[in-house]
Formats: sequence, structure tokens, C-alpha cells
Amino acid sequence: MRFDVLTLFPEMVQSHCSYSIMKRAIDAGVISVNTVNPRNFTLDKHKKVDDTPYGGGAGMVLMAQPYVDAYESVEKQENSITIMLSPQGEPMCEKIVKELAQYDQIVCLCGHYEGFDERIREIIKPREISLGDFVLTGGELPALCLIDAVSRKIEGTLGKIESAEDDSFSDGLLEYPQYTKPREYRGLRVPEVLLNGNHKEINEFRQSQRIERTKARRPDLLQ
Ligand code: SAM
Repeated sequence: MRFDVLTLFPEMVQSHCSYSIMKRAIDAGVISVNTVNPRNFTLDKHKKVDDTPYGGGAGMVLMAQPYVDAYESVEKQENSITIMLSPQGEPMCEKIVKELAQYDQIVCLCGHYEGFDERIREIIKPREISLGDFVLTGGELPALCLIDAVSRKIEGTLGKIESAEDDSFSDGLLEYPQYTKPREYRGLRVPEVLLNGNHKEINEFRQSQRIERTKARRPDLLQ
């Protein structure tokens, strides 16, 4: 899986990819994350990427030309999709993450300031995805959330130790509660069933905990 991220702040993206599981997946060649900076595609000597909105109003709008030229410089693979990170898009969820994991390339368009000149949308025609009903300062964090979540679905990103099989949402339920050593902490004991080595009982206990937890916290998922 190859990710190409259009961003005015490539260091933000590279920083997240320099640690832990993401770094390991990149080093192993399971995923690659490339950045393209629209600022390198400006035609004026001041490298201007934004300007004031027509019609007035606060803030700065990303100009179409550097952004579209930057986008067109990215070599597209056959099985590729372009995602614009936008608070006006479909809310991100497990179903979308699984769907995106089927592509070989995801091009992420990160906005900043007041967002995109509308003609960027009209020309590129991306699918728009939102991290939720709130507004962030830029698209880099949502793009990284998408890249991180999609990468977990790509074989080879997670080792056995971080397996996603029982994770929340993997089959519609939330995960069961987890415990590690010691057996007792501040008077709170690990449930006895987890200590007895009987895997059938452990699985039954965990499954009932998953259902209880989902009922209590996310009844909408059970429906
Ligand atoms: N003026 C825009 C609006 O009200 O729809 C918001 C622009 S926001 C300050 C700047 C950029 O951050 C957006 O272009 C988008 O790339 C990103 N962004 C902000 N909130 C987001 C969210 N909830 N989901 C995805 N991207 C978001």
C-alpha cells in the first residue's frame, strides 16, 4: 500500500511515520508514505499557496493552481483512490477503513487555514472523509488517522503480538476488558476465569464481556 499525502507541513506526517508500528511497516516495505508539498508548485517567487476569500470573510483559502499541479505530479497506480480530508465528508468508520484497505494507493489531500478553493474539489473530484463533527486546524492529523487505521488492515503491518482480530469494531462489538500483571493491584483482582488456563471458559467470558460492554456503551452497534 502506497500513501501519497499532499500537505504544506510534510514534517507532521513524516514525524508520525518515524515511530513504532508505522516505522516498522515502512522499513519492512509493507507500506510507503510519501509527501508532496504544494508550496513547491507555486509559480510566483514568494511561493504563495493561499489567498483571501472572494466575497470577504476571515482566513485564507488554499489556491487551486499549486494544489492541482501538486496533485497531478503524483503518479497514480491503477487501483488508486483520492481522499480529501474535510469536516464536510463522510464520517470515518471501520467499514470505510476496510474498504480503503483494498486499494494499492491512497492519495490524501490535506487542507489548512480556511480550507480549499472549491475548484480543487471540482477538478480532482475526491471522496471526502471527515474525522468527526468538529473542525481541526489542518488535514494532517485526520490523514494520519486514516493512514494508521488502514495500515493496520494490511498484512504484515501488525505482528502477532499486536493482532487486530479481537479489536473493537472488527466484528461489530467492542473489545473485552484486558488485564496484565500483577494479579492484584490496589485491592482489584484480575477475574479468576482468566487465570485458570481453560481457554473455552476464557473465550466464553470474553465474549459475554464484549456483549455487555457494547450494550452499555454503544447499543447502536448491537442494532
Ligand atoms: N472552513 C472549513 C469548513 O468549515 O468546512 C474548515 C477548514 S479547516 C480549519 C482546515 C482543514 O483542516 C480542512 O480543509 C481539512 O483538510 C482539515 N479538517 C478540519 N477538520 C476536519 C475534520 N473534522 N475531518 C477531516 N479534516 C478536517
